[in-house]
Amino acid sequence: MRLRNITGSREAIAESPYVIQEAVHSECRGKWNEIFGNDHPVRIEIGMGKGKFIHTMAMRNPQINYVGIEKYSSVLLRAVQKMEREEIPNLKFLRMDAERLLDVFGAGEVDRIYLNFSDPWPKDRHAKRRLPSGEFLALYNVILKPGGRLEFKTDNRELFDFALAQLEPAGWRAELVTYDLHGDPALAEGNVMTEYEEKFSSMGNPICKYVICRRAESL
Ligand code: SAM
Repeated sequence: MRLRNITGSREAIAESPYVIQEAVHSECRGKWNEIFGNDHPVRIEIGMGKGKFIHTMAMRNPQINYVGIEKYSSVLLRAVQKMEREEIPNLKFLRMDAERLLDVFGAGEVDRIYLNFSDPWPKDRHAKRRLPSGEFLALYNVILKPGGRLEFKTDNRELFDFALAQLEPAGWRAELVTYDLHGDPALAEGNVMTEYEEKFSSMGNPICKYVICRRAESL
């Protein structure tokens, strides 16, 4: 993602009541039900960008708690501004790098993980930074509850093929794989488009998606 630094974004994020502040990140582990004040399932989007997807999901599903994770204040600011216009009680934000997921979520605390249009990191030496890499799958495996799922969408075929190749060695199995999400009426039904998905599908790019879960014998 091309990043434009927005003056004051860091300060705005540091003061926002919708963002869980870094100083208390470690206190969140195992406490997400307390944070939301209910025992509803917790679903997270990693690399949420400006937040269109998670915002829509949270509005549509008030019985589910959502946590949006984004590395950059300048990007997260847009999602926070949207919340200032219309507060959504079942949605919170974390400004952090996904490398630190285990500091913030306890084992089995997350019901579902969404990765949408993750940065491709095309150079081989950066493969570990790709959010669907084996290294990240190992983190997801800790925080996902047994039977929990991960959903990944992208228009980048190379990244998608890389992501599929990571699954078996890391002990995961695909429940669903499509190379043309929007071309399949059954799969497209209820699909919530992200900012990137709108942009790239309008250019004619097919959207790939997988849904994965842990192989039972590797739990
Ligand atoms: N998910 C949004 C969408 O589909 O429109 C944004 C996609 S954008 C290409 C990828 C986003 O992931 C960027 O906002 C980037 O800052 C964020 N990101 C990349 N690596 C991350 C990481 N390790 N931890 C948290 N956020 C990350």
